[in-house]
Amino acid sequence: VYLLDSPIKDYPWGSRTAIAELMGRPAPTPKPEAELWMGAHPSAPSRVLLPTGPEPLDQVIQRDPSTALGARVLARFGPRLPFLLKVLAAARPLSLQAHPSAAQAAAGYAREDGLGVPLDAPHRSYRDASHKPELLVALGRFRALCGFRRRDEMGSVLRELDVPELDAVRRRLEAGSEPAGTRAAFEALLALDEAERAATVAATTAACARHAAQGGRYGAECAMVLALASEYPGDVGVVCALLLNLVTLQAGEAVYLPAGNLHAYLEGVGVEIMASSDNVLRGGLTTKHVDRPELLQVLDFSPVEAAPLRPVPSGTESIYPTPAAEFRLSRLELTGNPCALRVTGPEILLVTEGAAVAASPLGRHSLRRGEAVFVPAASGQYSLEGTATVFRAVVPE
Ligand SMILES: [Zn+2]
Repeated sequence: VYLLDSPIKDYPWGSRTAIAELMGRPAPTPKPEAELWMGAHPSAPSRVLLPTGPEPLDQVIQRDPSTALGARVLARFGPRLPFLLKVLAAARPLSLQAHPSAAQAAAGYAREDGLGVPLDAPHRSYRDASHKPELLVALGRFRALCGFRRRDEMGSVLRELDVPELDAVRRRLEAGSEPAGTRAAFEALLALDEAERAATVAATTAACARHAAQGGRYGAECAMVLALASEYPGDVGVVCALLLNLVTLQAGEAVYLPAGNLHAYLEGVGVEIMASSDNVLRGGLTTKHVDRPELLQVLDFSPVEAAPLRPVPSGTESIYPTPAAEFRLSRLELTGNPCALRVTGPEILLVTEGAAVAASPLGRHSLRRGEAVFVPAASGQYSLEGTATVFRAVVPE
């Protein structure tokens, strides 16, 4: 097992306290700290602290893929770590976004390459050729917008708010079946010109303020719209948010976001795992590149049941079930007794509470809160001991 030194992304929506406190550094930090990236994404790999000195994890894997990944993962995914593990700390809302399917990502990446768009260009939508299913597990209270609501619920919200500027959107919603009506309503919102957009956002915000003040049934949704409008004034994403499920997770609960799911994390701290990719198509609530036509290509307009995902106990682990082939995330609550774990591929372990010792035939490491280690497939097995909460990322068999 090898200790990782992982990069932190300073996106403006990040918290100045959460990641620093998790890692035992002074807080608040001078810059926002949005995401801690534990993995081997070529744009920002973790560094492995080897006895010979630090080395980027992607290079360690490429130098000896069979030791790092094992035959099974190498054959299926090639000489790269299939997943990326993050700690995400949102003090402010993130952009409204969706991720492409595997086929859309491969095609989009090839198309932008063919057009000669540089990989790091701000207007590039596809930064790699991989899809990006993702799972977020809340470490405390966490709020998110996740997937389109049922069409009748959207209609009810719009009728309740009664904004004349949204009449055309509502008519399109109600004229189409599900999910065509949802698509038509969403397209109508994105198609507003600048003047219409400003008027619609202003009228919707005013209606939400009235509704919240009167203690209406959509008070939580309206408070969310008002908060988004103060962060991103005039952004049509503020209105789009009303079409999505508002989800509040408690510690240990999760959301899984498959390709095409429109979502936005609003606030909170969580452990996130995804296929190793940085492919994001944004629809608003951001100052970054927004690619509306491409977003409309990848969106899934079917209604989403937004119940929080809870882990399933399996031996000493609680496993978060998802259909993703690239990752499986589980949580271990260690209470003193050592537990033995079998290794069938590359793993990353992250301690979020307490302290633990990870010992394998290849090495032994004490892990404090906020620290992560890489476990090469060739370890075969290892043991964990301590009083700690540990998140374990593996490639499912
Ligand atoms: Zn996302």
